[in-house]
Amino acid sequence: MIYSFQVITLFPDIIQASMGLGVFSQAQKSGILTLSCINPREFTSDIHKTVDDRPFGGGDGMVMLPEPLEKSISTAKREHSRSKVLYMSPQGTPLTHLKATALSREEGLIIVCGRYGGIDQRVINSFVDEEISIGDYVISGGELAACVLMDCVSRFIPGVLGHKDSAEKDSFAGGLLEHPNFTKPREYKGQNVPEVLLSGHHKKIQEWKRSMSILVTMVKRPDLIKAHISQTELRGLLVFWQQIPKDQRKTLGIEQLHEKDFHG
Ligand code: SAH
Repeated sequence: MIYSFQVITLFPDIIQASMGLGVFSQAQKSGILTLSCINPREFTSDIHKTVDDRPFGGGDGMVMLPEPLEKSISTAKREHSRSKVLYMSPQGTPLTHLKATALSREEGLIIVCGRYGGIDQRVINSFVDEEISIGDYVISGGELAACVLMDCVSRFIPGVLGHKDSAEKDSFAGGLLEHPNFTKPREYKGQNVPEVLLSGHHKKIQEWKRSMSILVTMVKRPDLIKAHISQTELRGLLVFWQQIPKDQRKTLGIEQLHEKDFHG
């Protein structure tokens, strides 16, 4: 099964330029997924190829007309009738790791990008399965949001990333942020790579990564930690943390932690 992304957009160049490099375009070449754009401007009947108009009731910003959008969506559906129709919108469900994995299990996505003041509400009511937001702020068009979504979803489509498990080890996969990473040189600006990572002791390294993952999450995103850690594990972590020399805590990005943070 080849996963299909179909983007409905007035600015297909933004999509092609953003997705034309890296793992996503590699996956297209390998035949794991396809990407195509449909431009609502091609489904207009007037000489000016009008795709928007003033909102009824007044107000700022033009609104995208329903008919060119409807025709674009039905064209997309004719090719991939089982794809889910999304509308990128600041009013949508926030995009998260969990949402992206769920979307990766669809057969394909038809992604509607708004521009100007947005699209006519009746298009959403009649044709959109789900509205998705990339965060609580407004950007000027759905294209960059669609690219974020496609990049993120594609990482969970089997075969897109080189190592089968690399998406599973990144931040958020286990509900936690990733441990800090180090490469050469061993000493840099007076900061040393933790000894354990040079030890070659696989089990100890795994334990270190798990513990560091929790500590980093405690520092940067305490809101994520609650569900993922038991009191017993917290006590073990306190011991782990106490054994890290003070100057090393800075290298690891966890110098803000205090003993009281381990008392639930
Ligand atoms: N007037 C609308 C915003 C329109 S912004 C409102 O207040 O809700 C123009 C287009 O940009 C939208 O149609 C949408 O497709 C896209 N967009 C803006 N912010 C977004 C966000 N946070 N997530 C996803 N898409 C967004």
